[in-house]
Amino acid sequence: MAENLCFTAMKQFKKKYGEIPNVSDHKYFTNSMHVPVWEKVDLFTKIDIESQLTGYSSAGCITYVEMDTNLQNNINALEEIVNYAMDKDIPYFAINVPNDLCDDCGYTGEIIAACPQCGGNNIKRLRRVTGLSNIS
Ligand SMILES: [Zn+2]
Repeated sequence: MAENLCFTAMKQFKKKYGEIPNVSDHKYFTNSMHVPVWEKVDLFTKIDIESQLTGYSSAGCITYVEMDTNLQNNINALEEIVNYAMDKDIPYFAINVPNDLCDDCGYTGEIIAACPQCGGNNIKRLRRVTGLSNIS
């Protein structure tokens, strides 16, 4: 929903004000207090920047970081990331991890190539999941 609004609002903004460099020169606005998704920053920098802005988000906010892996084999790294966010007073924090599904056998998790359980290639890939539900 927020993603649709960011696109629609930008479309309306451009119709009214035109394309303004660094304001309306993308297809959509960045919602809330997020570092724009087109900016390449490491997760600690993202947390540093967004932690300074959470107080201005009167309707609530979430800080999330995108991971290339689900971290299930590196719980210490997961703990370090969560502690870093908590130390920065992030009120609501999430880690997005790969969460793929094998349509042949139902295996879920990070599937790099073929399914590690059945060898199938009928894989649904999901790379944006909010929360920690895939990490145990
Ligand atoms: Zn499978």
